[in-house]
Amino acid sequence: MKHKARGGHRRGRGPFDYGELRLFLLALIAEAPSHGYELIRAIEARSAGRYIPSPGVVYPNLAALEDMGHIQTEPSAGRKSFAITTEGQAFLAANRASVQAMLTRDWAKAEEGRDPIRAGMHEIKSALTEVLRHDPGEERISSIAALLQSTAQTIRSQSIPDPASRQDSRRGGRTTGMDQIITRHRFDTRRRVLSVQEKTWVTPNMIRFVLHSEELADFQSLGPDDHIKLFFETGAEKPEMRDYTPRAFDRESRTLTLDFAIHEAGPATQWAVDAEIGAKLSIGGPRGSTVIAPVFDWWLLIGDETALPAMGRWVEEMPEGMQVVTFGLVTDPAEEQVWQSRASHQAKWLHRADPADPAPVLAGVGEFALPEGRGFIWIAAEAGVARALRDHFEHRGHPREGLKAAGYWLKGEADASVKSLD
Ligand SMILES: Cc1cc2nc3c(=O)[nH]c(=O)nc-3n(C[C@H](O)[C@H](O)[C@H](O)COP(=O)(O)OP(=O)(O)OC[C@H]3O[C@@H](n4cnc5c(N)ncnc54)[C@H](O)[C@@H]3O)c2cc1C
Repeated sequence: MKHKARGGHRRGRGPFDYGELRLFLLALIAEAPSHGYELIRAIEARSAGRYIPSPGVVYPNLAALEDMGHIQTEPSAGRKSFAITTEGQAFLAANRASVQAMLTRDWAKAEEGRDPIRAGMHEIKSALTEVLRHDPGEERISSIAALLQSTAQTIRSQSIPDPASRQDSRRGGRTTGMDQIITRHRFDTRRRVLSVQEKTWVTPNMIRFVLHSEELADFQSLGPDDHIKLFFETGAEKPEMRDYTPRAFDRESRTLTLDFAIHEAGPATQWAVDAEIGAKLSIGGPRGSTVIAPVFDWWLLIGDETALPAMGRWVEEMPEGMQVVTFGLVTDPAEEQVWQSRASHQAKWLHRADPADPAPVLAGVGEFALPEGRGFIWIAAEAGVARALRDHFEHRGHPREGLKAAGYWLKGEADASVKSLD
Protein backbone atom coordinates (compact mmCIF):
# COMPACT_ATOMS: atom_id res chain seq x y z
CA MET A 1 0.00 0.00 0.00
CA LYS A 2 1.51 3.33 -1.04
CA HIS A 3 0.78 6.51 0.80
CA LYS A 4 -0.64 9.44 -1.05
CA ALA A 5 0.28 12.95 -0.06
CA ARG A 6 -2.08 15.48 1.50
CA GLY A 7 -5.68 14.89 0.53
CA GLY A 8 -5.03 11.25 -0.32
CA HIS A 9 -4.80 8.22 1.96
CA ARG A 10 -4.80 9.02 5.60
CA ARG A 11 -3.98 6.87 8.57
CA GLY A 12 -4.30 7.42 12.27
CA ARG A 13 -6.85 10.12 13.11
CA GLY A 14 -10.13 8.78 11.95
CA PRO A 15 -13.38 10.21 10.68
CA PHE A 16 -15.32 8.45 13.44
CA ASP A 17 -16.62 9.89 16.65
CA TYR A 18 -15.95 8.13 19.93
CA GLY A 19 -17.24 4.53 19.82
CA GLU A 20 -18.26 4.72 16.15
CA LEU A 21 -15.24 2.89 14.80
CA ARG A 22 -15.90 0.08 17.27
CA LEU A 23 -19.48 -0.22 16.04
CA PHE A 24 -18.32 -0.12 12.43
CA LEU A 25 -15.79 -2.92 13.09
CA LEU A 26 -18.53 -4.98 14.72
CA ALA A 27 -20.78 -4.48 11.67
CA LEU A 28 -17.99 -5.60 9.33
CA ILE A 29 -17.26 -8.68 11.47
CA ALA A 30 -20.98 -9.50 11.39
CA GLU A 31 -20.75 -9.62 7.58
CA ALA A 32 -17.83 -12.09 7.69
CA PRO A 33 -15.33 -13.25 10.35
CA SER A 34 -12.11 -11.33 9.67
CA HIS A 35 -8.49 -10.76 10.73
CA GLY A 36 -7.44 -7.30 11.97
CA TYR A 37 -5.70 -6.53 8.69
CA GLU A 38 -8.70 -7.64 6.65
CA LEU A 39 -10.80 -5.16 8.61
CA ILE A 40 -8.31 -2.36 7.90
CA ARG A 41 -8.46 -3.23 4.18
CA ALA A 42 -12.28 -3.38 4.32
CA ILE A 43 -12.49 0.12 5.81
CA GLU A 44 -10.01 1.37 3.21
CA ALA A 45 -12.18 -0.13 0.44
CA ARG A 46 -15.47 1.20 1.86
CA SER A 47 -14.06 4.71 2.19
CA ALA A 48 -12.61 4.53 -1.35
CA GLY A 49 -9.13 4.94 0.16
CA ARG A 50 -10.06 8.05 2.18
CA TYR A 51 -9.44 6.42 5.53
CA ILE A 52 -7.06 3.64 6.55
CA PRO A 53 -7.10 3.16 10.30
CA SER A 54 -3.75 2.21 11.81
CA PRO A 55 -3.31 -1.14 13.61
CA GLY A 56 -2.71 0.92 16.77
CA VAL A 57 -6.29 2.19 16.49
CA VAL A 58 -7.97 -0.99 15.29
CA TYR A 59 -6.51 -3.58 17.67
CA PRO A 60 -7.42 -1.82 20.95
CA ASN A 61 -10.99 -1.48 19.62
CA LEU A 62 -11.06 -5.20 18.78
CA ALA A 63 -9.75 -5.99 22.27
CA ALA A 64 -12.52 -3.82 23.74
CA LEU A 65 -15.18 -5.60 21.65
CA GLU A 66 -13.79 -8.93 22.83
CA ASP A 67 -13.84 -7.79 26.47
CA MET A 68 -17.46 -6.68 26.03
CA GLY A 69 -18.31 -10.17 24.74
CA HIS A 70 -19.39 -8.82 21.34
CA ILE A 71 -16.79 -10.78 19.36
CA GLN A 72 -14.67 -13.85 19.94
CA THR A 73 -11.41 -14.99 18.41
CA GLU A 74 -11.09 -18.04 16.24
CA PRO A 75 -7.62 -19.36 15.39
CA SER A 76 -7.14 -19.62 11.65
CA ALA A 77 -3.83 -20.34 9.92
CA GLY A 78 -1.96 -19.22 13.03
CA ARG A 79 -3.58 -15.73 13.05
CA LYS A 80 -6.49 -14.41 15.07
CA SER A 81 -9.76 -14.17 13.21
CA PHE A 82 -12.68 -12.38 14.87
CA ALA A 83 -16.29 -13.60 14.73
CA ILE A 84 -19.44 -11.99 16.12
CA THR A 85 -21.14 -13.48 19.20
CA THR A 86 -24.86 -13.61 20.04
CA GLU A 87 -24.36 -10.59 22.36
CA GLY A 88 -22.68 -8.77 19.48
CA GLN A 89 -25.62 -9.51 17.18
CA ALA A 90 -28.00 -8.17 19.83
CA PHE A 91 -25.90 -5.01 20.23
CA LEU A 92 -25.92 -4.42 16.47
CA ALA A 93 -29.68 -4.92 16.35
CA ALA A 94 -30.10 -2.37 19.15
CA ASN A 95 -27.99 0.13 17.18
CA ARG A 96 -29.42 -0.71 13.75
CA ALA A 97 -29.97 2.94 12.73
CA SER A 98 -26.39 4.05 13.52
CA VAL A 99 -24.94 0.98 11.82
CA GLN A 100 -27.02 1.59 8.70
CA ALA A 101 -25.92 5.23 8.61
CA MET A 102 -22.27 4.19 8.89
CA LEU A 103 -22.42 1.51 6.24
CA THR A 104 -24.01 3.92 3.76
CA ARG A 105 -22.13 7.08 4.73
CA ASP A 106 -20.99 9.61 2.15
CA TRP A 107 -17.23 9.50 2.83
CA ALA A 108 -16.36 12.54 0.75
CA LYS A 109 -18.82 14.69 2.69
CA ALA A 110 -17.76 13.20 6.03
CA GLU A 111 -14.15 14.06 5.26
CA GLU A 112 -15.00 17.67 4.46
CA GLY A 113 -16.90 18.17 7.69
CA ARG A 114 -14.41 16.45 9.95
CA ASP A 115 -12.92 18.43 12.76
CA PRO A 116 -9.36 17.08 13.15
CA ILE A 117 -8.84 18.47 16.65
CA ARG A 118 -12.04 16.94 17.96
CA ALA A 119 -11.10 13.64 16.31
CA GLY A 120 -7.69 13.80 18.02
CA MET A 121 -9.36 14.47 21.38
CA HIS A 122 -11.54 11.42 20.90
CA GLU A 123 -8.52 9.30 20.10
CA ILE A 124 -6.67 10.42 23.21
CA LYS A 125 -9.75 9.69 25.31
CA SER A 126 -10.11 6.28 23.71
CA ALA A 127 -6.40 5.45 24.17
CA LEU A 128 -6.51 6.49 27.85
CA THR A 129 -9.65 4.44 28.46
CA GLU A 130 -7.88 1.41 26.98
CA VAL A 131 -4.73 1.89 29.03
CA LEU A 132 -6.57 2.45 32.31
CA ARG A 133 -8.70 -0.65 31.81
CA HIS A 134 -5.59 -2.84 32.14
CA ASP A 135 -4.26 -1.49 35.46
CA PRO A 136 -1.13 0.11 34.01
CA GLY A 137 0.74 0.57 37.29
CA GLU A 138 2.16 3.63 39.01
CA GLU A 139 5.14 4.10 36.71
CA ARG A 140 3.15 4.04 33.46
CA ILE A 141 0.50 6.33 34.97
CA SER A 142 3.16 8.88 35.98
CA SER A 143 4.76 8.75 32.55
CA ILE A 144 1.39 9.19 30.78
CA ALA A 145 0.52 12.07 33.13
CA ALA A 146 3.87 13.73 32.35
CA LEU A 147 3.30 13.22 28.62
CA LEU A 148 -0.17 14.79 28.81
CA GLN A 149 1.06 17.79 30.82
CA SER A 150 3.97 18.30 28.51
CA THR A 151 1.78 17.97 25.39
CA ALA A 152 -0.63 20.53 26.84
CA GLN A 153 2.28 22.92 27.36
CA THR A 154 3.51 22.33 23.81
CA ILE A 155 0.03 23.02 22.40
CA ARG A 156 -0.22 26.23 24.44
CA SER A 157 3.23 27.38 23.33
CA GLN A 158 2.38 26.69 19.67
CA SER A 159 -0.74 28.85 19.80
CA ILE A 160 1.41 31.89 20.67
CA PRO A 161 4.31 32.56 18.29
CA ASP A 162 7.42 31.80 20.35
CA PRO A 163 10.69 32.98 18.81
CA ALA A 164 12.77 30.71 21.06
CA SER A 165 11.01 27.52 20.04
CA ARG A 166 11.10 28.52 16.36
CA GLN A 167 14.84 28.95 16.60
CA ASP A 168 15.09 25.55 18.28
CA SER A 169 13.35 23.80 15.41
CA ARG A 170 15.40 25.67 12.82
CA ARG A 171 18.56 24.53 14.53
CA GLY A 172 17.30 21.00 14.06
CA GLY A 173 16.96 21.88 10.35
CA ARG A 174 13.48 20.40 10.25
CA THR A 175 10.54 21.37 8.11
CA THR A 176 7.16 22.19 9.58
CA GLY A 177 6.07 18.63 8.80
CA MET A 178 8.88 17.22 10.92
CA ASP A 179 8.03 19.54 13.82
CA GLN A 180 4.59 17.98 13.84
CA ILE A 181 6.00 14.45 13.82
CA ILE A 182 8.70 15.00 16.43
CA THR A 183 7.78 16.81 19.64
CA ARG A 184 10.42 17.89 22.08
CA HIS A 185 9.50 18.08 25.76
CA ARG A 186 11.76 20.02 28.10
CA PHE A 187 12.38 19.12 31.74
CA ASP A 188 14.29 20.80 34.55
CA THR A 189 17.74 19.29 34.71
CA ARG A 190 18.81 18.12 38.06
CA ARG A 191 21.82 16.22 39.37
CA ARG A 192 21.22 12.99 41.21
CA VAL A 193 23.65 10.62 42.86
CA LEU A 194 22.80 6.93 42.41
CA SER A 195 24.39 3.80 43.79
CA VAL A 196 24.98 0.53 42.00
CA GLN A 197 22.49 -2.10 43.14
CA GLU A 198 23.17 -4.76 40.49
CA LYS A 199 25.85 -5.35 37.88
CA THR A 200 25.35 -8.03 35.23
CA TRP A 201 26.66 -8.87 31.76
CA VAL A 202 23.93 -8.82 29.09
CA THR A 203 26.52 -10.12 26.59
CA PRO A 204 30.32 -10.41 26.87
CA ASN A 205 30.72 -6.73 25.90
CA MET A 206 27.60 -5.15 27.38
CA ILE A 207 27.44 -4.43 31.12
CA ARG A 208 24.08 -3.66 32.72
CA PHE A 209 23.75 -1.61 35.90
CA VAL A 210 20.66 -1.24 38.02
CA LEU A 211 21.18 1.98 39.99
CA HIS A 212 19.14 3.10 42.97
CA SER A 213 18.34 6.39 44.66
CA GLU A 214 15.36 7.91 46.44
CA GLU A 215 16.18 10.99 44.32
CA LEU A 216 14.73 9.11 41.34
CA ALA A 217 11.19 9.59 42.70
CA ASP A 218 10.53 12.39 40.20
CA PHE A 219 12.80 11.20 37.38
CA GLN A 220 11.17 11.36 33.92
CA SER A 221 12.04 9.84 30.58
CA LEU A 222 9.34 9.77 27.92
CA GLY A 223 11.21 8.56 24.84
CA PRO A 224 13.53 5.62 24.15
CA ASP A 225 16.18 7.83 22.54
CA ASP A 226 16.37 10.11 25.57
CA HIS A 227 19.79 10.48 27.13
CA ILE A 228 21.17 11.47 30.49
CA LYS A 229 24.59 12.89 31.31
CA LEU A 230 26.94 10.84 33.44
CA PHE A 231 29.58 12.77 35.40
CA PHE A 232 33.02 11.35 36.14
CA GLU A 233 35.57 13.02 38.42
CA THR A 234 39.02 12.64 36.86
CA GLY A 235 40.95 15.12 38.98
CA ALA A 236 40.56 17.85 36.34
CA GLU A 237 38.84 21.14 37.14
CA LYS A 238 35.55 19.97 35.63
CA PRO A 239 34.15 16.44 35.62
CA GLU A 240 34.05 14.50 32.33
CA MET A 241 30.52 14.11 30.96
CA ARG A 242 29.17 11.33 28.71
CA ASP A 243 25.72 10.58 27.27
CA TYR A 244 23.86 7.35 28.12
CA THR A 245 20.34 6.06 27.49
CA PRO A 246 17.90 5.32 30.32
CA ARG A 247 17.42 1.67 29.34
CA ALA A 248 14.64 1.17 31.90
CA PHE A 249 13.19 3.06 34.83
CA ASP A 250 11.08 1.77 37.70
CA ARG A 251 9.63 4.55 39.82
CA GLU A 252 8.29 2.19 42.46
CA SER A 253 11.69 0.70 43.27
CA ARG A 254 13.45 4.02 42.42
CA THR A 255 15.81 2.24 40.07
CA LEU A 256 17.32 3.24 36.74
CA THR A 257 18.93 0.72 34.39
CA LEU A 258 21.87 1.67 32.16
CA ASP A 259 23.70 -0.51 29.63
CA PHE A 260 27.37 0.18 28.85
CA ALA A 261 28.94 -1.05 25.61
CA ILE A 262 32.54 -1.95 26.38
CA HIS A 263 35.18 -0.64 23.96
CA GLU A 264 38.42 1.34 23.97
CA ALA A 265 38.29 2.81 27.45
CA GLY A 266 37.31 6.39 28.12
CA PRO A 267 36.14 7.47 31.60
CA ALA A 268 32.61 6.06 31.17
CA THR A 269 33.74 2.65 29.95
CA GLN A 270 36.45 2.50 32.60
CA TRP A 271 33.90 3.29 35.31
CA ALA A 272 31.61 0.51 34.04
CA VAL A 273 34.43 -2.03 34.05
CA ASP A 274 35.61 -1.08 37.57
CA ALA A 275 32.35 -0.25 39.41
CA GLU A 276 31.25 -2.66 42.14
CA ILE A 277 27.98 -2.92 44.06
CA GLY A 278 27.55 0.27 46.12
CA ALA A 279 29.64 2.44 43.75
CA LYS A 280 28.26 5.96 43.20
CA LEU A 281 27.32 7.50 39.86
CA SER A 282 26.34 11.12 39.39
CA ILE A 283 23.77 11.78 36.64
CA GLY A 284 22.02 14.82 35.14
CA GLY A 285 18.85 15.05 33.09
CA PRO A 286 17.30 14.05 30.84
CA ARG A 287 17.03 17.69 29.76
CA GLY A 288 14.21 16.69 27.49
CA SER A 289 12.45 13.92 25.67
CA THR A 290 11.83 13.53 21.98
CA VAL A 291 8.50 11.91 21.29
CA ILE A 292 7.82 10.68 17.76
CA ALA A 293 4.12 10.68 16.86
CA PRO A 294 2.80 7.15 16.27
CA VAL A 295 1.58 8.01 12.76
CA PHE A 296 3.65 5.45 10.86
CA ASP A 297 2.79 2.08 9.34
CA TRP A 298 6.23 0.67 10.12
CA TRP A 299 9.42 1.48 12.01
CA LEU A 300 13.00 0.59 11.15
CA LEU A 301 15.57 1.00 13.93
CA ILE A 302 19.26 0.60 13.05
CA GLY A 303 22.03 0.97 15.57
CA ASP A 304 25.36 -0.25 16.86
CA GLU A 305 26.19 -1.44 20.40
CA THR A 306 25.76 2.07 21.87
CA ALA A 307 22.25 2.29 20.38
CA LEU A 308 21.06 -1.14 21.54
CA PRO A 309 19.82 0.26 24.89
CA ALA A 310 17.54 2.69 23.02
CA MET A 311 16.42 0.07 20.50
CA GLY A 312 15.74 -2.56 23.17
CA ARG A 313 13.69 -0.12 25.22
CA TRP A 314 11.83 1.02 22.10
CA VAL A 315 10.65 -2.41 20.98
CA GLU A 316 9.81 -3.35 24.55
CA GLU A 317 7.59 -0.26 24.92
CA MET A 318 5.87 -0.47 21.52
CA PRO A 319 2.19 -1.41 21.63
CA GLU A 320 0.63 -4.42 19.99
CA GLY A 321 0.05 -4.07 16.27
CA MET A 322 3.07 -1.87 15.45
CA GLN A 323 5.37 -3.21 12.73
CA VAL A 324 9.04 -2.81 13.66
CA VAL A 325 12.26 -4.15 12.18
CA THR A 326 15.55 -3.73 14.05
CA PHE A 327 19.05 -4.04 12.62
CA GLY A 328 21.58 -4.45 15.45
CA LEU A 329 25.18 -3.85 14.32
CA VAL A 330 27.50 -5.99 16.44
CA THR A 331 30.83 -7.82 16.21
CA ASP A 332 29.56 -11.41 16.43
CA PRO A 333 26.56 -13.58 17.42
CA ALA A 334 27.56 -13.50 21.11
CA GLU A 335 26.69 -9.78 21.17
CA GLU A 336 23.13 -10.27 19.91
CA GLN A 337 20.41 -9.51 22.46
CA VAL A 338 16.91 -10.90 22.94
CA TRP A 339 14.07 -8.38 23.41
CA GLN A 340 10.47 -9.08 24.33
CA SER A 341 7.86 -7.06 22.46
CA ARG A 342 4.10 -6.84 22.09
CA ALA A 343 4.71 -5.24 18.68
CA SER A 344 5.16 -7.25 15.52
CA HIS A 345 8.97 -7.25 15.78
CA GLN A 346 11.53 -8.68 13.38
CA ALA A 347 15.08 -8.67 14.82
CA LYS A 348 17.98 -8.70 12.34
CA TRP A 349 21.67 -8.64 13.24
CA LEU A 350 24.62 -7.62 11.09
CA HIS A 351 28.15 -8.63 12.07
CA ARG A 352 31.15 -6.45 11.29
CA ALA A 353 34.68 -6.23 12.70
CA ASP A 354 35.17 -2.44 12.57
CA PRO A 355 32.28 -0.44 14.09
CA ALA A 356 33.37 2.65 12.12
CA ASP A 357 33.29 0.92 8.72
CA PRO A 358 29.98 1.55 6.93
CA ALA A 359 30.60 -0.90 4.04
CA PRO A 360 29.36 -4.18 5.59
CA VAL A 361 26.40 -2.41 7.16
CA LEU A 362 25.36 -0.78 3.88
CA ALA A 363 25.63 -4.15 2.12
CA GLY A 364 23.36 -5.70 4.76
CA VAL A 365 20.63 -3.05 4.80
CA GLY A 366 20.82 -2.68 1.00
CA GLU A 367 19.27 -6.12 0.67
CA PHE A 368 16.38 -5.18 2.91
CA ALA A 369 13.19 -4.22 1.04
CA LEU A 370 11.43 -1.38 2.83
CA PRO A 371 7.84 -2.30 3.75
CA GLU A 372 5.00 -0.55 1.96
CA GLY A 373 3.25 2.40 3.56
CA ARG A 374 4.64 5.25 5.61
CA GLY A 375 7.70 4.38 7.67
CA PHE A 376 10.02 5.97 10.20
CA ILE A 377 13.72 5.12 10.12
CA TRP A 378 15.84 5.76 13.21
CA ILE A 379 19.62 5.43 12.99
CA ALA A 380 22.27 5.74 15.73
CA ALA A 381 25.86 4.56 15.38
CA GLU A 382 29.39 5.91 14.88
CA ALA A 383 28.86 9.26 13.10
CA GLY A 384 30.39 8.18 9.74
CA VAL A 385 28.32 4.99 9.69
CA ALA A 386 25.14 6.85 10.67
CA ARG A 387 25.73 9.45 7.95
CA ALA A 388 26.31 6.75 5.31
CA LEU A 389 23.10 4.98 6.36
CA ARG A 390 21.11 8.21 6.27
CA ASP A 391 22.41 8.93 2.71
CA HIS A 392 21.60 5.36 1.68
CA PHE A 393 17.93 5.66 2.67
CA GLU A 394 17.62 9.15 1.20
CA HIS A 395 18.96 7.82 -2.12
CA ARG A 396 16.36 5.09 -1.94
CA GLY A 397 13.75 7.86 -1.82
CA HIS A 398 12.80 7.61 1.83
CA PRO A 399 11.29 10.98 2.86
CA ARG A 400 13.40 13.16 5.12
CA GLU A 401 10.63 13.78 7.62
CA GLY A 402 10.48 10.05 8.29
CA LEU A 403 14.13 9.70 9.24
CA LYS A 404 16.22 10.59 12.28
CA ALA A 405 19.94 9.86 12.33
CA ALA A 406 22.47 10.48 15.10
CA GLY A 407 26.20 9.91 15.54
CA TYR A 408 26.37 8.49 19.05
CA TRP A 409 30.19 8.61 18.98
CA LEU A 410 33.05 9.59 16.64
CA LYS A 411 35.97 7.34 15.84
CA GLY A 412 39.19 8.59 17.46
CA GLU A 413 37.50 11.44 19.38
CA ALA A 414 36.70 11.34 23.07
CA ASP A 415 33.43 12.85 24.31
CA ALA A 416 32.05 13.45 20.82
CA SER A 417 28.62 12.96 19.27
CA VAL A 418 26.33 14.47 16.62
CA LYS A 419 22.84 14.24 18.03
CA SER A 420 21.11 15.19 14.78
CA LEU A 421 22.71 14.51 11.39
CA ASP A 422 20.90 17.01 9.17
C1 LIG B 1 22.20 10.20 22.89
C2 LIG B 1 23.28 9.18 23.19
C3 LIG B 1 22.97 8.04 23.93
C4 LIG B 1 23.95 7.08 24.18
N1 LIG B 1 23.63 5.96 24.91
C5 LIG B 1 24.57 5.02 25.17
C6 LIG B 1 24.25 3.87 25.97
O1 LIG B 1 23.15 3.72 26.48
N2 LIG B 1 25.23 2.95 26.15
C7 LIG B 1 26.49 3.09 25.61
O2 LIG B 1 27.34 2.22 25.80
N3 LIG B 1 26.82 4.20 24.89
C8 LIG B 1 25.90 5.16 24.67
N4 LIG B 1 26.23 6.28 23.96
C9 LIG B 1 27.61 6.39 23.42
C10 LIG B 1 28.59 6.88 24.47
O3 LIG B 1 28.20 8.15 24.96
C11 LIG B 1 29.99 6.99 23.79
O4 LIG B 1 30.41 5.75 23.33
C12 LIG B 1 31.03 7.61 24.72
O5 LIG B 1 32.08 8.10 23.91
C13 LIG B 1 31.59 6.62 25.72
O6 LIG B 1 32.42 7.35 26.61
P1 LIG B 1 33.86 6.84 27.09
O7 LIG B 1 34.22 7.72 28.22
O8 LIG B 1 33.84 5.37 27.32
O9 LIG B 1 34.78 7.08 25.83
P2 LIG B 1 35.39 8.51 25.24
O10 LIG B 1 36.33 9.08 26.28
O11 LIG B 1 34.26 9.37 24.87
O12 LIG B 1 36.17 7.99 24.04
C14 LIG B 1 37.39 7.24 24.15
C15 LIG B 1 37.71 6.60 22.82
O13 LIG B 1 36.75 5.56 22.61
C16 LIG B 1 36.19 5.68 21.32
N5 LIG B 1 34.82 5.17 21.38
C17 LIG B 1 33.74 5.76 21.94
N6 LIG B 1 32.66 4.96 21.81
C18 LIG B 1 33.06 3.87 21.16
C19 LIG B 1 32.43 2.67 20.72
N7 LIG B 1 31.12 2.47 20.96
N8 LIG B 1 33.15 1.73 20.08
C20 LIG B 1 34.48 1.92 19.84
N9 LIG B 1 35.13 3.04 20.22
C21 LIG B 1 34.45 3.99 20.89
C22 LIG B 1 36.28 7.16 20.97
O14 LIG B 1 36.32 7.37 19.58
C23 LIG B 1 37.58 7.54 21.61
O15 LIG B 1 38.66 7.27 20.74
C24 LIG B 1 25.27 7.25 23.69
C25 LIG B 1 25.58 8.43 22.98
C26 LIG B 1 24.61 9.37 22.73
C27 LIG B 1 24.97 10.61 21.96
